[in-house]
Amino acid sequence: MTHETTPCPCGSGEPFSACCDPVLNNHSRAETALQLMRSRYTAFIHKHDKHILASWDPSTRPRSLNHDAHPVSWVGLQVHETEKGMENDTEGTVTFTASYIEQGQLCHLREKSKFRKDNELWFYIHGECELKKEKISRNSTCPCGSGKKFKRCCLQVS
Ligand SMILES: [Zn+2]
Ligand SMILES: [Zn+2]
Repeated sequence: MTHETTPCPCGSGEPFSACCDPVLNNHSRAETALQLMRSRYTAFIHKHDKHILASWDPSTRPRSLNHDAHPVSWVGLQVHETEKGMENDTEGTVTFTASYIEQGQLCHLREKSKFRKDNELWFYIHGECELKKEKISRNSTCPCGSGKKFKRCCLQVS
């Protein structure tokens, strides 16, 4: 996939081709815990299971993923804070909120994720989550930023 100018879904403001795309194709391109976290968010949007599983610590990695069990529409990622997780660290945490629409509700998943580096590769271990749900009215503007009404946009796929 070459998307030279498409903005990266992780919301970094960088083009996809210079942000998460290289990491999705090559795990070792994540130099920091934050880059890995962003690439995992993007991988969930793209249903890129190979990267999601490969970047999951073997001690907590699920056997497989089933996106269809909980179809969601991702609407945004906000990074709140990072601790360590830089090029020279071997562990780090990233606190973020990932927002998505599920069954007509806007869900904000706030997570403090732990990462560790092994053999120059960052891995996601686990996170402490807090989920907040908000009801969206059918006629309001869709939170995904499309500019369309909710009932004509993400409500149809969630
Ligand atoms: Zn990105
Ligand atoms: Zn939408």
